[in-house]
Amino acid sequence: MFDYSPAPEAKLASFASSYGHFIGGKFTKPQKTFETINPATEEVLSQISHGSAKDVDLAVKAARNAYEKTWSKLSGAQRGKYLFRIARIMQERARELAVAETLNNGKPIKETRDFDVPTSVAWFFYYAGWADKLDYAGMGASPKAHGVAGQVIPWNFPLMMLAWKVAPALAAGNTVVLKPAETTPLTALLFAEICQQAELPDGVVNIVTGFGDTGAAVVGHKDVNKVAFTGSTEVGKIIARQVAGTNKKVTLELGGKAANIVFDDAPIDQAIEGVVNGIFFNQGHVCCAGSRLLVQESIHDEFIKKLKRRMETLRLGDPMDKNTDVGAINSKAQLQKIKGLVAKGVKEGGDLWQPACKIPRNGFWYAPAIIDGVSPANTVAREEIFGPVLSVITFRTPTEAITKANNTEYGLSAGIWTEKGSKMLKLADQLNAGVIWSNTFNQFDPTSPFGGFKESGYGREGGRAGLAAYLKGGN
Ligand code: ADP
Repeated sequence: MFDYSPAPEAKLASFASSYGHFIGGKFTKPQKTFETINPATEEVLSQISHGSAKDVDLAVKAARNAYEKTWSKLSGAQRGKYLFRIARIMQERARELAVAETLNNGKPIKETRDFDVPTSVAWFFYYAGWADKLDYAGMGASPKAHGVAGQVIPWNFPLMMLAWKVAPALAAGNTVVLKPAETTPLTALLFAEICQQAELPDGVVNIVTGFGDTGAAVVGHKDVNKVAFTGSTEVGKIIARQVAGTNKKVTLELGGKAANIVFDDAPIDQAIEGVVNGIFFNQGHVCCAGSRLLVQESIHDEFIKKLKRRMETLRLGDPMDKNTDVGAINSKAQLQKIKGLVAKGVKEGGDLWQPACKIPRNGFWYAPAIIDGVSPANTVAREEIFGPVLSVITFRTPTEAITKANNTEYGLSAGIWTEKGSKMLKLADQLNAGVIWSNTFNQFDPTSPFGGFKESGYGREGGRAGLAAYLKGGN
């Protein structure tokens, strides 16, 4: 292996020493602060405010005020103008956003640069285009916004999750109170600056930082009309109970345990790349990760041999290095969760393998792993690990593949690798998953709806369906 010099981009993002909330177009004075760190080094990046119910109330009031006095009075074309402006400023600040995301999340710079930021920008451009076309969205003449949207997002794709939520909400005419995850607030706070730069009317976007209690205050606020949440199934269930019996509209995008099914007629080298991308992209911190490899028994040995060889070439280390494939685990708590689940999987009969890799001294790291010989009852076949760990299960026939793939409480995504189109279509029809990729994995496009079945949640984000979730009569 070669050694590379540190990337000069590290200097492209700078953070204030502390941040308040972004309410009514202004940053409040930092209060009750907690540290936000770089998980690759454990270095403190900034101090963040822990939002109280009172802060959330101020943010909801600002959002309501902006909704009634400004945002709902603008034409769709005018709203679209702001969204286009935000998209263009994000493009102009793309490298800064990519660096900030990598520093605060731990994911490799090549991913933030080539995926997170461009996809976030694409979401704003796409929904900007919808803003003046709501009359033609198939939801009746002049469909109306819900009002104030309360949005709570996770730490795995901080900026992209913000874009998935804020862009359709604003295009449909809602105003927003958003709570980023506690470990990754920085790109949301840079986004607040971008809203100021775009001269977005005050209060249209409000950002309150904090922990789960802050999120609960957003979800539970009586003047929030629409709740959008992405995160764990555990918290999703709490939210579903919290809003039951209210008039709030809700979309929940929760966990997953996707099957990536490889048949013996698949293009093997391509499938290896897809399986690697499916589980090691973003350190496996992906709700739709292909975390269960279902490989046809006849090619199991050859496939696993090739997969191991490929995994030996993955570079783990400094996320700011452009050649890094596997970055840091986002938090100590997540690292402990991964280790705990893997230990359980091994105890229950799984065969763990990890390539030799140099683990940096500071920060939170987990070498990419496969657990072979996993029985359907094994914890690692059932529970979401949310880390770079692939559980390997074999099957003999397509029927067995479907039964095993669907044998999960989740239903977010799946992958099918075969050269036969008819087999692919037949399987896709029978798989209980909201998103199915074939001979590829982890493809996202703003025009395409994304969401799950069963314990993976309900509602769709992206495309016209994602717009409908923010309009009365749409969802
Ligand atoms: P993860 O497993 O990805 O950390 P969580 O579901 O715990 O997922 O967190 C996702 C988001 O939900 C975070 O912003 C977190 O602060 C927030 N959150 C946690 N608990 C609650 C709750 N009870 N109500 C609302 N939001 C919450």
